[in-house]
Amino acid sequence: MNIYADSRMLSKGLIGGTVSRHAGNMRQTANQNNVFGKLDVPQDKMLRFHQTHSDRIIRIASDADALSRISRPEQDADAWVFSCGGWGGVIQTADCVPLFLWDETADVFALAHCGWRGVAAQLPYKTVLAMKEAGAHGAIYAWAGPHIQSCCFEVQEDAARQFSECSVIYKEGKIFVDLNAEISLQLRLAGLNAADIKTPYYCTCGDKENFFSWRRDHIRQNLLSFIYKP
Ligand SMILES: [Zn+2]
Repeated sequence: MNIYADSRMLSKGLIGGTVSRHAGNMRQTANQNNVFGKLDVPQDKMLRFHQTHSDRIIRIASDADALSRISRPEQDADAWVFSCGGWGGVIQTADCVPLFLWDETADVFALAHCGWRGVAAQLPYKTVLAMKEAGAHGAIYAWAGPHIQSCCFEVQEDAARQFSECSVIYKEGKIFVDLNAEISLQLRLAGLNAADIKTPYYCTCGDKENFFSWRRDHIRQNLLSFIYKP
């Protein structure tokens, strides 16, 4: 099991990242809990939601907020914004972008499930705004975990039209979208410094050894991403 994570985030005391496929299919909660057990992350503090490729954000600002969510994992949403410690959030992906965000002190931190529909609905931008409303201060940092990269993310014309020109690549009669470019654009518009946005090139579709990919395999197998502050 490999965990892909940003050292800047870990150095702020946050625990999290994206777990390679060796840990199993994360559609099964038992597999998630095995990972948390190995990392000494308390599994009863990890919150879940039902992902729908929307721009809906759940904010957790207190123990009461968290407790009100923990019994409702079926609730629809696609991003977590935390402004209290002691809790964490889970998302599942198989080509979509797990986008990690945290502020200068890591008092406010977020994890968003950004499929292309979520990106087109401005979820990265809206998540930063929600962080600011939750009290984020100083610089906000971003890291995009493993997802389908522009090498493999071929789209049709109607999908391409929903993105900025700078994120669309025309090559040999095909159309590709660079989700990193689109997300970076939104994050800069939301006030992040370009130097604070990291988008490493791990392609879920191209790297079968480490990642599940819906586009590649058409099998319902998901990777786990999580963020947690003790
Ligand atoms: Zn690829």
